[in-house]
Amino acid sequence: MAQLKFECPICHEFLVVNIRDAQVRYSLRNPVPIVVTHGDPEHAITLFVDKEYRLRAISGSNIVERAEEAKAARKPLTRRFVPVPMKGQVDLDDLNSFQIQVLALVDGKRSVDELAQVLGVATMRVKILCEQLVRLGKIESVQVVIE
Ligand SMILES: [Zn+2]
Repeated sequence: MAQLKFECPICHEFLVVNIRDAQVRYSLRNPVPIVVTHGDPEHAITLFVDKEYRLRAISGSNIVERAEEAKAARKPLTRRFVPVPMKGQVDLDDLNSFQIQVLALVDGKRSVDELAQVLGVATMRVKILCEQLVRLGKIESVQVVIE
């Protein structure tokens, strides 16, 4: 286990994350993308850590865009799209960092709208990306939940 201290590029808060050895050792990518969510409103950042646990890069989503998205999402929704993760490990080799960020947050509970809010991007972008990830065999499916 390694601890990494870094400044969030979005809220400038200093954060400490614990990284499990297995997360780094068995990753097919180097540097290894590690997605961290925190804060209120919640936002996501991706740390890129090399095999020696050195922080190589940080990418964050845009919180201003996220706040506007939240405002727009306030009207009641009748249908939610919930992406479902694959059972086994997924090869991240040919995915870009945005696809990896989405993939890391897909837990079978968060809807496409919630993912879009956390990532600070438009819902439609996440929806299209999830459909692509299903076709690529990176996520199981996108379920439609009617409420
Ligand atoms: Zn932050």
